[in-house]
Amino acid sequence: MFAALRAFLLCLAAVSSSHAAPWSTFVQHSTHSARSLPNGLTLKTYHPKSTFEVYERGVPHPLSGRAEKASFTDAGMAFLHSKLGDGMSLRSGFESSHASHVYAVQKINDIPVANAVTNVVMNTKGDVVSFSSNFVKLNSFAPVPSSPKLSKEDAVAAAVQQLEGRHLGEEPELAYLALEDGKMALTHSVRLELRHDGHWVDAYVDAETGDVVGMVDYTTELSMRVVPISRADPTDGFQLLSDSDIVDPKASPSGWTTFQGENKHATIGNNIVAFKANLTAAVLPASDPATDTFDAEFDPTTDPTTDTNVAAAFAQAFYAANTAHDILYRYGWTESAFNFQQDGTGGTNGDPVLLSVQDVTDFNNANFVTLAEVDGKPGLMRMFLFNVTTPFRDGDMVNGVVLHEYAHGLTNRLTGGGNAKCLQTIESGGLGEGWSDAFADWVAQTANGGHVANFITGEWLNPTGHGIRDFPYSHSRAVNPYTYSTVKQFNEVHKIGQIWAQVLHIVHGALVQTLGSADDALTNPDAENGHTVFLHLMIDALSIQPCNPTFPDARLAWIQADQNRYDGKNRCNLWLAFAYMGLGVDAADFVDSHKVPEGCPLQYAAPA
Ligand SMILES: [Zn+2]
Repeated sequence: MFAALRAFLLCLAAVSSSHAAPWSTFVQHSTHSARSLPNGLTLKTYHPKSTFEVYERGVPHPLSGRAEKASFTDAGMAFLHSKLGDGMSLRSGFESSHASHVYAVQKINDIPVANAVTNVVMNTKGDVVSFSSNFVKLNSFAPVPSSPKLSKEDAVAAAVQQLEGRHLGEEPELAYLALEDGKMALTHSVRLELRHDGHWVDAYVDAETGDVVGMVDYTTELSMRVVPISRADPTDGFQLLSDSDIVDPKASPSGWTTFQGENKHATIGNNIVAFKANLTAAVLPASDPATDTFDAEFDPTTDPTTDTNVAAAFAQAFYAANTAHDILYRYGWTESAFNFQQDGTGGTNGDPVLLSVQDVTDFNNANFVTLAEVDGKPGLMRMFLFNVTTPFRDGDMVNGVVLHEYAHGLTNRLTGGGNAKCLQTIESGGLGEGWSDAFADWVAQTANGGHVANFITGEWLNPTGHGIRDFPYSHSRAVNPYTYSTVKQFNEVHKIGQIWAQVLHIVHGALVQTLGSADDALTNPDAENGHTVFLHLMIDALSIQPCNPTFPDARLAWIQADQNRYDGKNRCNLWLAFAYMGLGVDAADFVDSHKVPEGCPLQYAAPA
């Protein structure tokens, strides 16, 4: 399967380069972006034209002759130097089994040129197969300023005033900007949120004149007709949501449909690449590429594999998986914590989640492949149809199922420091299923606010009243009777997982009862309420617990996580909830313990 995926990634690269051709005839389109500003003016930003060369079977690079094989980054940089001279530095690189990629940025006086990048691709033999560059040749008649006249503070003030923006607090950085007239402006790059449309931008303020001479807009307009994340499935209804409703600009600053710096107008982006088995027609283009609108009307009365329903499935799964990325990013699962992203700062690049919509390899399930290599390899999420109803129903259409799958990437990468080998036993595999259900449960509760209500996994896919698990997750023992000791009855990870998810449902309820609820907990991890505390502790505990943890280990990791983050403030509250579920102090070998540590005298009381 992974060979096919690697081919798919290559196929993506091919798609992106062929895009350049038809547009290049529109001179302004290929070299300018334009943004209308609140004062009625239009700011045009110049992007130097790229050269692009392909070498089919490949050509050698300058280090090819060496006895010892050079690293792909050394080889790529040597080739780029041979084409462009000095004056650049490595920006990023990644390797797949079919190709390796190296990106560099132009530098003058050791300051990067913001709009000048180059890249080289090498095949598995190490030969160079393509090269592109939009590096700028310096005009000897136009001197390049080497130090700024304007201070950083003045640059921020100028950008805020000229663009009617709000400074986001990040320190401005020096950057050159190549201008259309061949001059090179030394600028302060200032990150702002524009007041009139909420877009996040980098404004380039000329460090001599104080004028804004260019802007990069990180916000792409995107509209998707989907079941909102606060709802479960198609029976709850669809809404056409716009960019500002769905994309978190902090977690996804270049939006959801930008891949390697280019808006794909399709279900391809930095976090998620959604595709269907036929790899040559793998991704769904926007129904209206001009506005990046995905607007398929799902019809539950017909087969899920009709063209329109497939389009709806693409949109729903892409939306829910990106939402999972953005939420978890806010809560600290960033590039440097081994998350899944094509590009980013820190960590290794080149690992978005590849999401196989309506995957045909199975039914009545979904799965997630995390490779053992720490970072830099894509995750693979496969969503299946469910064949228990007529017509069949599609796991892609159920938010909880998509969130569940995405959370496997989280738990596999964080347990054991990203090696993806530490949830292999039946018990720890069961915990893995449990966290995934618990994350879906958490998103539903948190999106709806208030106290923690019953939650059913996959109700629409298997309309039994308890979905695809034995019982709803509930504070009522009459609704869900499972406790820790139930684990010994089962020998299958989803069966075991539902017990851990029920434990965490109780923990979540206890935290919300004590610390209250908050409307903004999906995107604001800084407050202290039951929702935010729950997700922080769940994520923190993953990195604390041992490889292949047991239920009592996982519980102890929560207690320690609370000590680390909140100075043990929730210790008794957590112990009471765990003890209620049989995971008290003496819990071991699937024998319930309801004992809490000394000094925790309270009785657990289930929320009304
Ligand atoms: Zn699962």
